[in-house]
Amino acid sequence: MYILLMGPPGAGKGTQAALLVEKFRIPHISTGDIFRAAVREGTPLGLEAKRYMDSGSLVPDSVTIGIVKDRLTKLDCKNGFILDGFPRTLDQAAALDSTLADMGIEITRVFNISVPDAELVRRLTGRRICKGCGATYHVLFNPPKAADRCDKCGGEIFQRVDDQEETVARRLAVYRARTQPVIGYYQEKGLYTEIDGRQAIDEVSIVIDGVLRGAMS
Ligand code: ADP
Ligand code: AMP
Repeated sequence: MYILLMGPPGAGKGTQAALLVEKFRIPHISTGDIFRAAVREGTPLGLEAKRYMDSGSLVPDSVTIGIVKDRLTKLDCKNGFILDGFPRTLDQAAALDSTLADMGIEITRVFNISVPDAELVRRLTGRRICKGCGATYHVLFNPPKAADRCDKCGGEIFQRVDDQEETVARRLAVYRARTQPVIGYYQEKGLYTEIDGRQAIDEVSIVIDGVLRGAMS
């Protein structure tokens, strides 16, 4: 099962990816998570990526494409993966195609989780992340049971720098300009399914499961 999760920042890609991982036991590859780990570790990649991430811009394709190629050729991707937040540009989509062709892999389905801007702003500004395990919460829509502590590992909960209101507007504009054209790319290939992301987390998950069951049969 080779799944691409697309959609604007805050649409619920990471949330749905976590549910798919539980069901299918395939790796969740999020370029955002890879960059944030590099920032935490203070690697040269992290130092470079941070400049773009903090301002809500995209990390250059010349950096991002190589990282995803390396990750996809790891053994654990042989039987499937969930790619979240990549491709975000047409050049990334073309590079992904050639990498997967080399690996003899065909994408099972591309989901675009669609959510209106006002709701995205609410989701992003209310998003909180666990410092320990990376689990995602929302102060209103999916709060942890104990305030400021992760349900799964007890870790501390924090807000991403780029989820503050000033940066959110820039990220949504970048999505429209650079990532929305990628949707047409997958529509033409007949791989594309639009998901109404305004629904509750478990409802979105049921729709995705139904489409995947259809794709497998
Ligand atoms: P993305 O990975 O697309 O940027 P996330 O999965 O991190 O988005 O979700 C953004 C925020 O919205 C998180 O705080 C998450 O808990 C919340 N969220 C995700 N899906 C839904 C939903 N269907 N309804 C309400 N809130 C949601
Ligand atoms: P995300 O966690 O997916 O919201 O990504 C956070 C930030 O990481 C983005 O705003 C970009 O700066 C960077 N990023 C993540 N994925 C990509 C990508 N595919 N191409 C370029 N930049 C990316």
